[in-house]
Amino acid sequence: MQTTGPHHEHAPSASPQPGKLPGIKHIIAVASGKGGVGKSTVSVNLALALQQIGGRIGLVDADVLGPSIPVMLGLSTGRPPAATPEGKIVPADRHGLKVISMGMLTGDDNPAILRGPMVSKYLRMFIDSVQWGELDYLILDLPPGTGDAQLTLAQSFPLSGAVIVTTPQEVSLKIARRGLRMFETVHVPILGIIENMSTFICPHCSKSTDVFGHGGGERMSRQFGVPFLGTIPLDAEIVTGGHAGRPIVLEKPSSLPARAYFIIATDLAGRLEGRPTTALQPFTWTWATSDGEPDWVESAVQPSGSRTTAIGFRRRDARTVSVLWEDGHRNDFDVRDLRLACRCAICVEEMSGRPLLDPKNVRPDVSPRTITLVGNYAITINWNDGHSTGIYSLELLRALGERSKAVVVEDV
Ligand code: ADP
Repeated sequence: MQTTGPHHEHAPSASPQPGKLPGIKHIIAVASGKGGVGKSTVSVNLALALQQIGGRIGLVDADVLGPSIPVMLGLSTGRPPAATPEGKIVPADRHGLKVISMGMLTGDDNPAILRGPMVSKYLRMFIDSVQWGELDYLILDLPPGTGDAQLTLAQSFPLSGAVIVTTPQEVSLKIARRGLRMFETVHVPILGIIENMSTFICPHCSKSTDVFGHGGGERMSRQFGVPFLGTIPLDAEIVTGGHAGRPIVLEKPSSLPARAYFIIATDLAGRLEGRPTTALQPFTWTWATSDGEPDWVESAVQPSGSRTTAIGFRRRDARTVSVLWEDGHRNDFDVRDLRLACRCAICVEEMSGRPLLDPKNVRPDVSPRTITLVGNYAITINWNDGHSTGIYSLELLRALGERSKAVVVEDV
């Protein structure tokens, strides 16, 4: 993960329509075709991830009909926010985010009953009557759907773009497609698609299961020619954290879902600041035939790049897989060594970390059948000895590589 913020390192880029909202560099809408796909959860965690990598962030719970952000951030409700002498609303400050939500005004048990025009009026007030100060990103958690409220927002403010959240299910994709078209008609660029509730990784046995299917967001991004920002796994801790006011990005920053958020946030910030993106495209790679072999993007090497962002995988020979990292290092792994390094619950005792896999039982010719990228933060390997539960996070791979000799890419 890069730890430098977008505003420290790079010249500020202008808002699409400067002057309209002074002090705010980018307004980003987070949208979904329907409710329940995790749009608010994504808005909150993405806002926090952007903040952790150095951005100054405001968050508007524009889902005025069903505000859920106060619960997710543990904000008190039913107490109207303070106002400045000039009559500007003072946003709440939570975990370093500036936040405004209808739920703060009405309380949980007193849902707002607003008609269409009123919704638009409140949304406008939430954006231009709030004392935001200087912000890199103002994130709008839009109401689900593609109706009037969303259109009003898209047309009233200089949005830098929209992020579409979808689940891998086909039915939800159909609805998300409608959202994409709506933004297109009002000329709001689509910054990308996030597939939420993707692969479920069992916390006990590390086995991955595609509960709601797989790859739908990616297919949609290809079909519409818009970026695919990544996947967030289905994870029970996202739910418990969300209900307890402790978002996973803060509570478990090294968990797989949190890492997925950091990678997406870094990618998104890079796109908005006009940096070339180094994110690998998703792959399922058949080792024996090289079918689906991923990219190897040497042009993305930056000496100050991230140590744990992979920008290439390659089959060096039948027994060696190479990984190229953004900082220019290359690691070559003997495939049997990788099999022996498996950290799944079958190979390593969960509590004590005691190895359960006896190297004597791993055949010398063990090799991958397929290698699959999981949401840009890990790979899974399906082995020819029938083993398939291992998840190798990119951090783990880099750490394994550090223990052996790393090769600098110029020497290749
Ligand atoms: P929306 O804003 O689209 O209506 P929410 O963000 O309120 O959706 O999420 C709906 C429910 O799904 C919440 O209980 C939330 O905790 C849960 N959820 C969201 N993302 C995930 C995920 N990746 N894994 C598991 N549960 C999730």
